[in-house]
Amino acid sequence: MFYETKTDLLDAAVSYFGAGLESNEFCVWAIADPVTEEDAKNSLRREVADFDRRLAAGQFEVLPGHDWYLKGDQFDLKRITGGWSDKLRGALSKGYEGMRVSGNAFWMETNHWKEFCEYEHELDESLAGQKMIVMCTYSLRASRAVDLLDVTRAHQFSVARRNGHWEFLETPELKQAKREIEKLHDAMDVLSRPFPGHELLTPREHVVGEAGQGWTVALATLAFERGVGLLGHQLSFRRELDGVLEAARANGRSADPVMRQRLARSFAELEILRFNTLRSLSGYDGPVAPPEASISKLYWATWHRRLGELAIDVRGMDGLVAGGAPSDLDGYELDEFQRTFLFSRAETIYGGSNEIQKNIIGERVLGLPPEPKGATR
Ligand SMILES: Cc1cc2nc3c(=O)[nH]c(=O)nc-3n(C[C@H](O)[C@H](O)[C@H](O)COP(=O)(O)OP(=O)(O)OC[C@H]3O[C@@H](n4cnc5c(N)ncnc54)[C@H](O)[C@@H]3O)c2cc1C
Repeated sequence: MFYETKTDLLDAAVSYFGAGLESNEFCVWAIADPVTEEDAKNSLRREVADFDRRLAAGQFEVLPGHDWYLKGDQFDLKRITGGWSDKLRGALSKGYEGMRVSGNAFWMETNHWKEFCEYEHELDESLAGQKMIVMCTYSLRASRAVDLLDVTRAHQFSVARRNGHWEFLETPELKQAKREIEKLHDAMDVLSRPFPGHELLTPREHVVGEAGQGWTVALATLAFERGVGLLGHQLSFRRELDGVLEAARANGRSADPVMRQRLARSFAELEILRFNTLRSLSGYDGPVAPPEASISKLYWATWHRRLGELAIDVRGMDGLVAGGAPSDLDGYELDEFQRTFLFSRAETIYGGSNEIQKNIIGERVLGLPPEPKGATR
């Protein structure tokens, strides 16, 4: 963010940190001229009602930017990014949702400008997938036109605050992404509206596939859900498992031998699931799902339910307590682990319960004698 005046900088930083404090994030402000520690704390005190309590609890930290970035006038990229990672690990282990950082670029007028540009590129990449966001602030008055270009290139997006007004600086990537989103929006809009001339369709044209072949269409749709559809799930499963591993490392539970075995089992089984999905896709050449697809539903639903239990166990007793007050429905918030734990209970039921999946595998894949059926009238 580029700022024109000190008030612009304080206004923006205060809204940024105010939102972080209220969302239970650990906040660090690496200050530099023109902001002093007193300015930082006083302006937040005005914005956040219980700021002093949060400050005393260690949720907010002010760092002297110069010392943090340039220890003894030495710029060491690894030391700085390592320092942020340590702080993030510490914050997660204390139960914060993530970490929110802001640093003021005092280095514009030093001879470390080039090193800082490299640092910002490296930091941008190292943030991917981490529960950490960073707002770098730059004085417009101290910036040259080339600095503006360097800064915009090193960040996901850039904004400017000038005398109380916001301005957005767009990169070509951001413009392109916006255009793609608009195209998708248009496409969705078209799909959700009856297309022109739909009233002219004959009953025959309302039928998907051939008349009397509904079962084949249903099986093909199911094959898609259990094959290609599962590949997408796979990515979110991996992200969830990574979150559980990270939490176990951060709070030390990964040192418990039984917990290590459960984590390793979860990892190994997710790999097996991935290979099974790929095998199911490579063997698929017709409207009926291959045997691997029947195994997938039983396997992933059970795996995910166990992951939910593991996530809660990694957190310990704290994992069972939801945010906010139970009596206040708006404030009753579940975190990601709790959502996984609760939602995964439904997964062994919907789309055909685990017992039904086992029947399908027994009867249709292994050719075992059918389960006795109840009498029909
Ligand atoms: C979150 C959620 C979302 C859902 N979404 C959809 C949806 O989008 N579309 C849709 O059509 N449905 C949906 N369902 C319904 C779902 O498909 C059924 O709940 C599921 O197939 C199980 O059927 P049921 O609830 O009637 O249980 P029942 O068939 O009554 O089964 C009760 C118990 O008996 C067992 N059982 C039943 N039959 C057998 C058998 N032959 N052999 C051995 N054990 C058996 C079951 O495993 C279960 O333990 C959803 C369900 C949930 C929970």
